[in-house]
Amino acid sequence: AKAKDSLLYLDGVSVSFDGFKALRGLSLVIEPGEMRAIIGPNGAGKTTMMDVITGKTKPDSGDVYFAGDTDLTRMDEASIASLGIGRKFQKPTVFESHTVWDNIDLALAGVRKPFATLFHRTTKAEIARVEEILETIRLTDKRDWLAANLSHGQKQWLEIGMLLAQEPKLLLVDEPAAGMTDAETAETAILLKEIAKTKSVVVVEHDMTFVRDLDVKVTVLHEGSVLSEGSLDVVSADPKVIEVYLGR
Ligand code: ADP
Repeated sequence: AKAKDSLLYLDGVSVSFDGFKALRGLSLVIEPGEMRAIIGPNGAGKTTMMDVITGKTKPDSGDVYFAGDTDLTRMDEASIASLGIGRKFQKPTVFESHTVWDNIDLALAGVRKPFATLFHRTTKAEIARVEEILETIRLTDKRDWLAANLSHGQKQWLEIGMLLAQEPKLLLVDEPAAGMTDAETAETAILLKEIAKTKSVVVVEHDMTFVRDLDVKVTVLHEGSVLSEGSLDVVSADPKVIEVYLGR
């Protein structure tokens, strides 16, 4: 029943690397239109979880369902991405020598290599969509800037915009606030909340100020499974969480 209504359902996923269990029967449900923050100490399995969702790593046991009952467990990465799962890695990979506008426009055209811009003609609908995305990522006034001249935070937003151009149903975001100024961090929370009005978003994050700004349900991972789940206030008061973070 869970799988039917949810956007993403990890059902008892286990992953081992050379006998070491990175995930131990991890179960997680993300609803359509939900934003979830995933926290947990180093080695908790956060990256492995993201790798399993995108198909980069295959579970030894357990299943992954998307949009109800689509079984992702044995699909390859490209097929999973084409179903509408986009992942933003920590380090932004934008086309530095192209403008902000062209970066979004190229992503919209599904163009992987920037020289293809020579052959690409943008339709009116695409122009409207680029403008809409630039508003969302707060870079409208930087549209003609070369991406190379953006701040680190602005490059992160641009890359989020490039992912939005691919119209994902689920956006996976890996530590967006890392390396950002306080002002950029606060702005990123607002931006992600706006995106989460129309998409589900899973954010892995270490910065607790940022997680507080997001103000969403938090899942605490520890040793490859869920230790605690609830609002940040609830999980921070959970004795199991306190022990893992402070009790060593
Ligand atoms: P987190 O992202 O929460 O820090 P990870 O998912 O990166 O945790 O790692 C979980 C555990 O699995 C760690 O102990 C890590 O050393 C181990 N691990 C992750 N990937 C590999 C791999 N490719 N080979 C061997 N061990 C790995």
